[in-house]
Amino acid sequence: MSLPKLYIPGPVNISQATNDALVQPMIGHRSKDFQKLYSSIQPGLKQLFGTTRPVFISTSSAWGVMEGALRNVVTKKVLNCCKGAFSDKWFDVSKRCGKQADTLQVEWGQPITPEALDQRLATGEYDAVTLVHNETSTGVLSPLAELAEVLKKYPHVISIVDTVSSFSTVPINFDELGIDVQLLGVQKALALPPGMALFTVSQRALERAATLEDRGYYFDFHEFEKNAEKDMTPSTPVIPHIYALKSKVDEILKEGLKNRFARHEKLNAMVHAWVDKQGFEFLAPEGYRSKSLTCVKNNKEADLPAIIAYLRANHHLIIDGGYGKIKGKTFRISNMGDETEESITTLLAALDDAFAKA
Ligand SMILES: *Cc1c(COP(=O)(O)O)cnc(C)c1O
Repeated sequence: MSLPKLYIPGPVNISQATNDALVQPMIGHRSKDFQKLYSSIQPGLKQLFGTTRPVFISTSSAWGVMEGALRNVVTKKVLNCCKGAFSDKWFDVSKRCGKQADTLQVEWGQPITPEALDQRLATGEYDAVTLVHNETSTGVLSPLAELAEVLKKYPHVISIVDTVSSFSTVPINFDELGIDVQLLGVQKALALPPGMALFTVSQRALERAATLEDRGYYFDFHEFEKNAEKDMTPSTPVIPHIYALKSKVDEILKEGLKNRFARHEKLNAMVHAWVDKQGFEFLAPEGYRSKSLTCVKNNKEADLPAIIAYLRANHHLIIDGGYGKIKGKTFRISNMGDETEESITTLLAALDDAFAKA
């Protein structure tokens, strides 16, 4: 029997086209064929990131680059903006990397506000800040454009922005925002298999990195920059994923970025309408809700494990029963990746059935 379809917020289902793209003949990573493959994806990736800087390909999950970013830019002290499981984890990782770190902590379900960020950066204590754009555990989308305006007042503060679950679902323009590091893992919004991360870094971040001597090798920004000039990666990359990335980037450009944003907006609104209709509530306040997933408060105290088991057995699909300390108190529905009106309609009908019968 085939496995159930994933409606969890990552990893998400991969398409047949992606599946096919993964299984192509192997090439050497120092060959002309590889350079051709690598360079053919760069224009599309730059367009997706909204940057003229090179987009780096890392063979790791997002955390590899997240840890690497800390090791490349933090010299004095980093401010970790914490609002959920992923953003909170940055603080732990900062300390494990031996960095001085503080938190700007808000309650799970709330966004990071520009005022709070400004107040903390005004202390002058920090030379780096970590921000999660779309907190996947709580479904909160923080106001990145406004936060970036605050960051512009503090040019010595290097910003590291995690766009794992928002990338390509809402507009994010790296160059216009003036942020320093933007990263994502490919298994969420891009609907590729886990195992690869993409990132870009500003000139300012490179300059900072040059002052740090213990930034290691595998995630060294300067190694990536130097190799990118030759259309290569520092070490042997996950070549099947790069084939799949090419296929996905071509697909996104064919759909058109505006259409892609509109599709996510529409599918997300369909899920929101279902939440309202069922009498559930959202964890995130209005105006700060993710467009790629929905985190629903279990205010009706539904038996979530029973619902999830019912969906799997009767509808061959999986939703998520909450993450970290809000497991059971919330559930999450993903509309990221390749979902369509048809697939979300099917999902919502299945949810109606499950909440009525399970
Ligand atoms: C999933 C996720 C991560 C971690 O990704 P890995 O691929 O497990 O390293 C980090 N940040 C956010 C916002 C995520 O959703």
